[in-house]
Amino acid sequence: MTNHLAAALGIGRTDRHDRRFATMPDGRYYRYADVDGVSARFARAVQALGVQPGDRVAVQVEKSIEALMLYLGVVRAGAVFLPLNTAYTPAEIGYFVGDAEPTLLVADPSRAEALAAAAGGVRIETMGVWAADNPDPGSLFSHVPEAPGDFADVARGPDDLAAILYTSGTTGRSKGAMLSHENLASNARVLAAYWRFTADDVLIHALPIFHTHGLFVATNTTLVAGSSMLFQPRFDADAVLAALPEATALMGVPTFYTRLLADPRLDGARTAGMRLFVAGSAPLLAETHRQWEARTGHAILERYGMTEASMITSNPYDGARRAGTVGHPLPGVSLRILDPETGAECPPGTVGMIHVKGPNVFRGYWRMPEKTAEELSPEGWFVTGDLGTIDSEGYVVIVGRGKDLIISGGFNVYPKEVEGEIDRLPGVVESAVIGVPHPDFGEGVVAVVVPEAGAPREAAQVLEPLADRLARFKQPKHVIFVDALPRNTMGKVQKKALRDAHALLFAG
Ligand code: AMP
Repeated sequence: MTNHLAAALGIGRTDRHDRRFATMPDGRYYRYADVDGVSARFARAVQALGVQPGDRVAVQVEKSIEALMLYLGVVRAGAVFLPLNTAYTPAEIGYFVGDAEPTLLVADPSRAEALAAAAGGVRIETMGVWAADNPDPGSLFSHVPEAPGDFADVARGPDDLAAILYTSGTTGRSKGAMLSHENLASNARVLAAYWRFTADDVLIHALPIFHTHGLFVATNTTLVAGSSMLFQPRFDADAVLAALPEATALMGVPTFYTRLLADPRLDGARTAGMRLFVAGSAPLLAETHRQWEARTGHAILERYGMTEASMITSNPYDGARRAGTVGHPLPGVSLRILDPETGAECPPGTVGMIHVKGPNVFRGYWRMPEKTAEELSPEGWFVTGDLGTIDSEGYVVIVGRGKDLIISGGFNVYPKEVEGEIDRLPGVVESAVIGVPHPDFGEGVVAVVVPEAGAPREAAQVLEPLADRLARFKQPKHVIFVDALPRNTMGKVQKKALRDAHALLFAG
């Protein structure tokens, strides 16, 4: 038996050893031979530190190419990679470590001391960003042998775990989504083919690597196709603009696109060599899609996915990429929309709960059998928690998270519908519509609006035009103007933070 995921990603394929895998901003680069060699050395390092097949290796480090090699090394050693958001505090890390019981925690050198108290005796090694002028990149490197030696990947089957990713956990406890070798391998193969990645592609990688988008979608797709990437430590509009003429593809969250659009240097000449712009992890405004196409001539390809199921749907490569939709289920993925009350299949055009099934769907939540049973049926259907609909041409439209649904006076209000109307108004950049406890209606609809610079901040400007566009129960009862919406690193609007901040608005 081989190591299922490592084999799918092409680890050990000597025929591509001379090709370039990643180029760093300082010109340092990794060839595919280095990917195989360095990840083998990390595999030997974690083995030397006592990591056995099936053990978890938790990792909270800054983005670096070596951190990606650690991911591959952990997989090759048969262990389970557990990346953690760099924004998590030591107390939060304490929860993850207590829950996942890793054998090893790899931490940024600046955090190791603070984490020692929270980690409850779990072995900590440090890993900073490797650089020629950094004399001490971290203790982990002292366990990494100089030469790869003869590393034989630990055998792992399709159903063995490759990774655990904790969900962002905006309600209740954060849950560890268990992803198998085949979950990741199947999705990487499908995406590479669907988005036509080849050895000639050069992907701009500016996403974080603790999340499914940057870690799996961007990296695994590149590896499967034998493409190469321009590896950037974080999103920086200047750096992405400078890289565009050297690249063929960009994967980003919607905020990448709005920030790039704000820069006059973005134009058709700069993007002439690009063949693909992918957006996901949060909804792309239809307006951003239109502006991008007008400015560059490229239609952004929007896709939909989540930690538990990797990528689920995508707009087509050939054929219309429709703004405001996330396209069709990927090959091998089944998607259905059910009425949350009755469980009956919703007819096209009707909003319901999105369920998905396929080789991409995770193995359940780590040590949470009840939660798993609630969301994953014995037949393999996963209840995504997202509300959506399928339009007349089979394109899936995401309406929002089920928990963001507002019930006002007994009526369902889908925030996205109200946001869409507000965003069309002159003087409005964007908006977030939330439900806040209300003594008469249960929840009252509240619009949080970002006005354009200099535009009046008057509720009437928003409310009057909505009066004849939306049913009365959907119209906001209150408008709050803000300079910017709260977003996490993946560009998702933090609606829970908004609800918490304004919870007492109608309390009298
Ligand atoms: P995460 O598990 O952090 O990747 O978050 C997954 C959630 O992000 C999904 O369940 C959706 O609610 C949301 N999401 C991802 N892609 C899109 C998209 N293209 N449009 C709207 N929402 C999206």
